[in-house]
Amino acid sequence: MAKHIFITGGVVSSLGKGLTSAAIGLLLERRGLKITIQKLDPYINVDPGTMSPFQHGEVYVTDDGAETDLDLGHYERFTNAILTKDSNFTTGKIYSTVIANERRGKYLGKTVQVIPHITNEIKSAIKKPVERNTDVAITEIGGTVGDIESLPFLEAIRQMRLELGPENVLFIHLTLIPYLRASGEMKTKPTQHSVGKLREIGIQPDILICRTEKPLSEDLKYKLSLFCNVPKKFVIEEQDVSHSIYEVPLVLVEQKVDELILKQFNIKRNGRDLKDWRRMIEIIKHPKHTMEIAVVGKYLELQDAYKSIYEALTHGGIANHCRLQIKRINAEDIEKSGAEKYLKNMPGLLVPGGFGQRGVEGKIQAIEYARINQIPFFGICLGMQCAVIEFARNVCGLKDAHSTEFSRETNHPVIDLMASQRDIKDLGGTMRLGSYQCHLKKDSAAYRAYQQEIILERHRHRFEFNNNYREQFTKKGLRLSGICPKNNLVEIVELTEHPWFVGVQFHPEFKSKPIAPHPLFRDFIKSALSKQSAMGDC
Ligand code: GLN
Repeated sequence: MAKHIFITGGVVSSLGKGLTSAAIGLLLERRGLKITIQKLDPYINVDPGTMSPFQHGEVYVTDDGAETDLDLGHYERFTNAILTKDSNFTTGKIYSTVIANERRGKYLGKTVQVIPHITNEIKSAIKKPVERNTDVAITEIGGTVGDIESLPFLEAIRQMRLELGPENVLFIHLTLIPYLRASGEMKTKPTQHSVGKLREIGIQPDILICRTEKPLSEDLKYKLSLFCNVPKKFVIEEQDVSHSIYEVPLVLVEQKVDELILKQFNIKRNGRDLKDWRRMIEIIKHPKHTMEIAVVGKYLELQDAYKSIYEALTHGGIANHCRLQIKRINAEDIEKSGAEKYLKNMPGLLVPGGFGQRGVEGKIQAIEYARINQIPFFGICLGMQCAVIEFARNVCGLKDAHSTEFSRETNHPVIDLMASQRDIKDLGGTMRLGSYQCHLKKDSAAYRAYQQEIILERHRHRFEFNNNYREQFTKKGLRLSGICPKNNLVEIVELTEHPWFVGVQFHPEFKSKPIAPHPLFRDFIKSALSKQSAMGDC
């Protein structure tokens, strides 16, 4: 039977519960255990697919096409767990199932209630991703203890401990120990309250992980132990890391969190192997090169909106022994002041995915600048579509070329809605989503990166390269280097006369890991490094 770890958060949101869950997953895997990892989100949207990036940050997409919380990105970057539609449940998703069941008469005339019907559905959601050979299932509960919305989730995990026994269920509570500069003190009271709240609903945390700016003194640990009813050695300090989020597992290892968990579960395993992980951290801390990379987008004030893009860029840097400084440029600023002002000294440009008209012309101008000035360019989803529009307008002379997402009247709809999308009315879960095969042309930058002819990448879009323009564009020097065999869609475009200019309709950033950087990000950074040294020579 699989063991369960539940991770809750207290005091404030954005404590890094997702990262901590992922780091624990990694440590258990490195002990040879098979894990699954899942997130439960208390909001009522069925999934985050319809939410604005300003509300929710990036929407992460799994191989099977689920639009999910961005914490799943951390899980995949840190671990080898296979994530699916069952790896993220929201209150909305749970309620839709219960209401559909009620309409079908499945509850045999009973009054349908939060307890037991909603909590039963939550428990079955928790068990869903747990396969027969899973050793440990990690479940992160979104939100902060004390929220009204998360109560049914907490009630469900309380019941699970009762049903499966304390030897099979472990509660970890992540909390904040604030440092008050004025008095020079670290405060345990918010944690005491948060644990108090959990105990009120019948959950006694087994392990307390304390996020902190400064080290916790032994006295403070003792105080936390006493007031929170957690043995002192189970009070773990998770101090802010200096260089990278990828250091978090090493912080936890130092305090033997994995050993504590195994002991609690009575699982016997030998030592862990983190050599490759430590090597990767060494590169992050002591890189041979540093370089700026421009990202032209529109949700730039928000670190989370392009989360996986920034992470994949970092991985591309790691593959090249290079620390990247990401220069976030607002596409609308380029519209106002021109691309040169922002891109003149940039060795590489990435234009990420996006929706809606705002900033599109700025992105197109930035791409034109990169094309003409031979600056390595990586376009992702909308970024690729903008590259096609730019090529159509400025190389092929199709002056009003556009995507029909932005101009229904254009004479040259070089990016157009897929036929299968035309009659769709619902916005949620209806895009071209998840993993599709793509065949690569041998003589291409894409093939040189992947070193294989058939690849699988994840999608999230409604619009596509318009096949009517294939011949015209190819003649003018656009190489269509990746095609989806299933429906003959153009997935990758490249410029023949350029050191590295690649636009992809899919989202490669979702499959990059710090110890397995994505080949396209690796090659993009490699080519930007060459550009940087060439610029230095000028
Ligand atoms: N808005 C574009 C489309 O729907 C691109 C989407 C994206 O960049 N993810 O096709």
